[in-house]
Amino acid sequence: MERVILIKYGELTTKKGNRSFFVKTLVRNIEQKLKDYDVEIEQDLARMLIHFKEEQKTEILTAVQTVFGIHAYHVAYQVPSSLEIIKEKVLETAKQEKFTTFKVEVKRNDKSFPVKSMDLAPLLGGLLLKNITGIQVDVHSPDVKIEVEITPKHTYIYYQAYQGLGGYPVGTQGKALLMLSGGIDSPVAGFMAMKRGIPIEAVYFEAIPHTSLEAREKVITLCKKLANYTDEIKLHIVPFTKLQEAIYQNVNPNYMITIMRRMMYRIMDNLCQVYHGYAIINGESIGQVASQTLESMQVINEVTKLPVIRPVACLDKLEIIALAKKIDTYETSILPYEDCCTVFVPKHPVIHPTLEKCLSEEAKFDYPPLLQETIEQVFTLKITANNEKTYQDLL
Ligand code: ATP
Ligand code: MG
Repeated sequence: MERVILIKYGELTTKKGNRSFFVKTLVRNIEQKLKDYDVEIEQDLARMLIHFKEEQKTEILTAVQTVFGIHAYHVAYQVPSSLEIIKEKVLETAKQEKFTTFKVEVKRNDKSFPVKSMDLAPLLGGLLLKNITGIQVDVHSPDVKIEVEITPKHTYIYYQAYQGLGGYPVGTQGKALLMLSGGIDSPVAGFMAMKRGIPIEAVYFEAIPHTSLEAREKVITLCKKLANYTDEIKLHIVPFTKLQEAIYQNVNPNYMITIMRRMMYRIMDNLCQVYHGYAIINGESIGQVASQTLESMQVINEVTKLPVIRPVACLDKLEIIALAKKIDTYETSILPYEDCCTVFVPKHPVIHPTLEKCLSEEAKFDYPPLLQETIEQVFTLKITANNEKTYQDLL
């Protein structure tokens, strides 16, 4: 009896007009994920089937677990849609399972099937009770739920539901650029953005020699972890040293962070134009530090017209940490390497900055040529999941 992986789409089924685009994108993403495996994919607007080789099952299920746009999936027996065969196969497969209480649930997508769902469930249940000793029905909390899904050609019988990542398939939205630091928050923000279907490219600001190559490696590792949920992620590295030193030399210490972040946003705005990003994504969380009060956000945000999406803006640190652990970025994020934001930390960063003061601080030095020079020196690495190469190999 053939087993297939049966995939349910979830949230994208609410997008009626766009359904086929969403499904096509999901198929493309799954094909990409499974390109090294011997699989065949079939789909319609309601479900997707992956035909696989039994010996590759574990790896394939693991891969499916990292694809956005999947609500749930099952390893299902695929049998012809005939009443006699369904009865025979439900009994045969149930005999292989260990349970004492059960419930049968029937979904009849093929309304021409001669028996109604309402009648088929008790019929199959009765068959099991008659042929397997020591079992009983429990409709409320059964040990196993035996699900039987009837389509015109095939019927799918399955005993277990796995939860998918949900969200939309990556590629169903326009691209955005993620400000990826080595911290806990920004990888989580990137994950959440991808979950809405947004393909991301990451941008890392570094200030060598004030920040180390280890700090860069850490960001590369985080990028790999994020790439696990999509295909490849480009990582643009911004050599920020000169600009940062100029800020340090010219700007009132209280305003250094605010001005530095305005410079970062200006560079992000420019990179979005170059790489066709529709939005900036970052890991800012309201109130977490001085530069993340609403007043700070307002004056920093003032340098760009692009939407700045802050997926973790309203989460507690503990909630962000829980997510970071779930997506496997936490252990990397807490490695103790310095970030360019933490190198020049003033004692009293301003909590309520004003735009006027920002402008007067920025008037103290000729920053546009420095911005230009910095942007010209940006270089890009292509990061894929489980890529063991070092950054030199990726250039
Ligand atoms: P944590 O608070 O856990 O250190 P964080 O690095 O995200 O996380 P901040 O340093 O306050 O926190 O920065 C806020 C956001 O700004 C980050 O989430 C990130 O999106 C962006 N950011 C900060 N530093 C950099 C950097 N060096 N390169 C790219 N983006 C950065
Ligand atoms: Mg940080």
